[in-house]
Order: sequence, then structure tokens, then C-alpha cells
Amino acid sequence: MCDTCSVPGSSPEEAETSPNPLSRRVLFGAGIGAAIAVAGLGGSPAHAASAMNGAWCNPALGYFPNGGHYGAPRGGVSHAGQDITNTAGTAVYAAAAGTVIRRSWGGGLTGRTGNGIVISHGGNVYTYYGHLNAYRVALNARVSAGQRIGDMGTTGNVTGPHLHFETHSGGLGRTVNPVPFMTARGVDLGGGWSRIDPEARGARARSIQHLMNQRGYSLVADGYYGPVSVNAVKSFQRSQGLVADGQVGPLTWPRLVYSLRQGVADGSHVRALQVAMNKRSAGVVVDGNFGPVMNSAVRTYQSVNRLVVDGLAGAVTWRALVG
Ligand SMILES: [Zn+2]
Repeated sequence: MCDTCSVPGSSPEEAETSPNPLSRRVLFGAGIGAAIAVAGLGGSPAHAASAMNGAWCNPALGYFPNGGHYGAPRGGVSHAGQDITNTAGTAVYAAAAGTVIRRSWGGGLTGRTGNGIVISHGGNVYTYYGHLNAYRVALNARVSAGQRIGDMGTTGNVTGPHLHFETHSGGLGRTVNPVPFMTARGVDLGGGWSRIDPEARGARARSIQHLMNQRGYSLVADGYYGPVSVNAVKSFQRSQGLVADGQVGPLTWPRLVYSLRQGVADGSHVRALQVAMNKRSAGVVVDGNFGPVMNSAVRTYQSVNRLVVDGLAGAVTWRALVG
């Protein structure tokens, strides 16, 4: 198993009472499931064998930006992939074993821009990685699941650094939604966010309540994720075009959290962060103000958890905190 596909964070079943900020969660999927899925698409025995030997893994750490989902309207056409946002230079990995068949502008695919890579996984299954700042594999190279193939970047039509990730099934050009495609192969493309179900209690529930209040709701931050909070989250999910299931999971968390840094004052989103930090033993005052003490606490947390130490509590830091 390759370590490059692991991310900081703790497993969803981790008890509220036993935080372990150093635990790492491996995002590899089950190779057997992938082999069955690929073979079911009519792959040749050789392709099926290669799929059977490899697992699927998360192509990049990051979060889902608003409007970056598959099918989102893009100038009259529909968005062909799932965007994953992080800082420029973030490692991009092969989602599964295969062969690099394109390494060119837009991967030679209509409508795509920026430095792109297409990997053939056999069985008419392909993945595409767009907007790369750097290539780290050669054309025609054989790659393994989790092997670094490039750097996240800003080439092509972008508003900021991200990976444009596509999954093609049934032939190159036949895109499918990468999120369920990867889920079926055991990979949470959103990566490592916890899932909070109705009736949960604890710090994460309290953080959700504070975040919801910053979003304009009026919840009592009592740490009980009961019917009132659940109904508010369902309303929020509907407003975001999400399935209103009342669960705060990999799709809802990225829409709920805020990017926060020193200087943000008097906000429920900062209170949410402070509660989450205190679950990680930061011991900060929950006053809604992101001052120097918070800045120091966030940097310490980032350092201990091998995150980028910039004092910015963005989605990656949030994910590690509430995961
Ligand atoms: Zn995109």
C-alpha cells in the first residue's frame, strides 16, 4: 500500500472523547471491487488483470469549490469533471494503475484547457487531470495507483489553482460523475471529512451549530445535533443544491466552513473554529475573535499535523480538525 494517498484526519467512528490529531486515514479503495467494475465493462483479460493488481486512490488532497461539481453549467456546456481545490504545487496522483496516453494541452480533449494528462486504466476506463502546473511523468509511462503524476496548478482557463479531475467509462470522452464513480471504488473524493448524523452530540455538533449561525440561522450552540439543527442543515443543503439528508458529510462540510485567518473578529464561524480547535486540546477562549493567540494555535496544529503552516484555517485544516 502506498502512503501517498493518505491524508491527515481521523476516522468518522473516532469517539469525541478520544481525539487523535496524528491519526492518518488511508483513502485506498478495494482493488477487488475495482477489478469487478472494470471487468464488467468488457475489458480484455490483460486490462482486467492490471486493474485487479491495483487499487484506486484519491488523486489530490483538497476540497470541492462551489460550482465545481460534475454537470455544473459552463458557458453553455456542462462541466465534465469534479474540481478539487488546494494550493498550487499540491501533489496530483494517478487515481489507479495505468498508462499515460496523453500529456498535452487539454489532453487533446474538446473544451479542456491547461496542461492535461490522460491515463488509460484498461477496460475503456480513463481518468483526466487538468490545469497542472507541472508534469511528473512521461508520455506512455506506466504508472501505479497513488504515483505522483503532476502538480496542481493554474494553467488554462481557471480562477485559481485546482485539479480538474474527470472519469471516463465506456470510452475516452464518455465522462461520468467522478464522485459516485470513485465512491464505488472505495474512494471518498472529497477526502476525509467526517459524517455527522442526526442525534450526534459533541464538539463537532457544536461547531456545526456555530457555522450555521454564521450562515444566517439561529441555533442554540448546545452541541446536540437534534431535530432543530437537523432541519436547519436540511434547509442549508437545499439552498446549496445538495441532497437534504440532514447529514453533515463530505459534500456539506466544504460548503459550511469558512476560510479564516487572523483579523476576523466577532464571528460565529470563528467560534466554530475555536470549538473545533479546543477538541484538539488548543485551550483557546471561544470568543469569536481570531487574534494572535488563535493564529499561533492554528499554526501549531498545522505543524503537528503536517499541513501547510500558514495560519489560514481553510478547508484542508478544517477537514483535519473535524474529520
Ligand atoms: Zn473543472
